Amino acid sequence: MRRLDARELTGRSSTHIHWLEEPACALHVDVVAPFLALRAAAAQAGFDLLPASSFRDFSRQRVLWNAKYRGERPALDREGRLIDMSALAPAERIEAILCWSALPGASRHHWGTDLDVYDRAAVAEGYELQLVPAEYAPGGLFAALDVWLAEHLERYGFYRPYQRDLGGVSPEPWHISYAPLATECLQALSPEVLRDALREGDVEGGEALIARVPELHERFALRVEAARPSVLQHELGDHRRMV
Ligand SMILES: [Zn+2]
Repeated sequence: MRRLDARELTGRSSTHIHWLEEPACALHVDVVAPFLALRAAAAQAGFDLLPASSFRDFSRQRVLWNAKYRGERPALDREGRLIDMSALAPAERIEAILCWSALPGASRHHWGTDLDVYDRAAVAEGYELQLVPAEYAPGGLFAALDVWLAEHLERYGFYRPYQRDLGGVSPEPWHISYAPLATECLQALSPEVLRDALREGDVEGGEALIARVPELHERFALRVEAARPSVLQHELGDHRRMV
């Protein structure tokens, strides 16, 4: 398995990424095969499992972050209510954005191991995907997919790091992660690596963020569900025997 260097870990380089045409997405070179195996298994169960988002680089994450910070793009609080950024002090803005968006450099999407998925077969033409918990809850469009993922993800080496509210990132049932590689990436993403990325970055709130790196790293990078040991042992060849 190919280890990521500091620039790859923080999305400032994409040398670890493979751009896939069908389905269109960008993943770590070693995650392509496990994801396609998962997608094929989902297809047999009647789901058209597609990535809504896969690899995202530092500059893309910075565009999202800066737009929210400046109030140019809507930001929501934990209850899903719109926030008026102009009324908030810098520290409050940072807190508000972190509820739903990753800090540039600290997004698991930088690694190419993580994706946001949905079922295209469940949505009508023109439906605007929201990626909100209600879509994955009982009665929601992706309720059946949610149940299927819970039962099958681990067999293909994936798991869901944002399953519960642990005080960091809000629950994201659509966010799946290739556990063996992502767990290594998380260990390699030290506060120092994150601080270096932010220093280089041109990120709104930069100085306040840099001063808070140890705390932010603990809450928004480390505070995730741990993958079970059996999933960590998933080997890249395994899915070929399983499917
Ligand atoms: Zn995600």
